[in-house]
Amino acid sequence: MTDAIRVVKAATHKPKPQDSELTFGTVFTDHMFVADFQEEKGWYDPRVEPYAPIPLDPAAAVLHYAQAIFDGLKAFRGVDGKVRLFRPQKHVERMNNSAVRMCIPPLDPELALRSLVTLVGLERDWVPKALGTSLYIRPTIIANEAFLGVRPARSYIYFVILSPVGAYYPEGMAPVKIRVEERYVRAVDGGLGGAKTGANYAASLMAGEEAKHEGFTQVLWLDGVQRKYIDEVGTMNIMVKIGGEVITPPLGGTILPGVTRDSVLTLLKDWGIKATERQISIDEVVAAHKAGTLEEVFGTGTAAVISPVGELAYKGQRMVINGGRTAPLTQKLYDAIVGIQYAKAPDPHHWTVEV
Ligand SMILES: *Cc1c(COP(=O)(O)O)cnc(C)c1O
Repeated sequence: MTDAIRVVKAATHKPKPQDSELTFGTVFTDHMFVADFQEEKGWYDPRVEPYAPIPLDPAAAVLHYAQAIFDGLKAFRGVDGKVRLFRPQKHVERMNNSAVRMCIPPLDPELALRSLVTLVGLERDWVPKALGTSLYIRPTIIANEAFLGVRPARSYIYFVILSPVGAYYPEGMAPVKIRVEERYVRAVDGGLGGAKTGANYAASLMAGEEAKHEGFTQVLWLDGVQRKYIDEVGTMNIMVKIGGEVITPPLGGTILPGVTRDSVLTLLKDWGIKATERQISIDEVVAAHKAGTLEEVFGTGTAAVISPVGELAYKGQRMVINGGRTAPLTQKLYDAIVGIQYAKAPDPHHWTVEV
């Protein structure tokens, strides 16, 4: 689809919140991007419209069988005042991989990239200025065919909405307490774990709620078969540093291919720090903690960039990591990625795309 993008401007503009009032995902900008898909036509009529509710038939497939995917990335206002997206091509590639897994027709990657750049360009005044704030970008595809039979739908809507968000760490990085989840599982090999789809989130809610009730921020998921290997932490990828080596579970099974995960692995390689993608059991993590070699544990994801884990609870035992404080490599990775995002540091891998 090489159609030109139609633009219908909003007649009125919403008041923009102060940077200091921003939270996450509550305020949306004046416009959204929309394209439609029908089997006979393919993806068509890419356009920018005023932000508004989407008409949906109560029989729409997404409402019944969860045929939907999304992605999440950010635009930043650099210290030079310019607006940049962080690794949008990588997010588009992942969105299309998620789509294929959910039997959703992929988008032309060039058009998908253009949808993000065009919409953010039009809404550039909504990109907040304060360091740590950003404009969150949420591309989504839903099956909107009105049909209750079980098969892939024949019509879809792609839309992109934007939300100015506050700093994740207004007072510096804060290590979190995590409970290792032994009862519920997030994903199983052969399932949906590698796709960014709402169903994975629905599956994760109960464990997260129970953990919060017990005073933890989130859970560390174990593999769904043996409850043995570490998988992800909440909705972030997990990394552990043992005896100088960073270890993270490999892609290809249940692990969501995080763009932040990839950025961290690239930086570690640049810095000559050993980083290994392999299965690692929770018993190995416990043994390393006992031996005093469990140096750092952190999650990676677009929302927080890096989330240090200060404490892990497993089978009634509490393992405190680095005295419950943010460990040095965790902090260095955070600073490096944030530095590139806000153009405080050079961008040798060309991760950012100027709008
Ligand atoms: C989105 C997501 C991540 C992190 O991916 P990023 O591209 O780094 O934001 C990790 N795990 C799950 C389950 C996710 O949905």
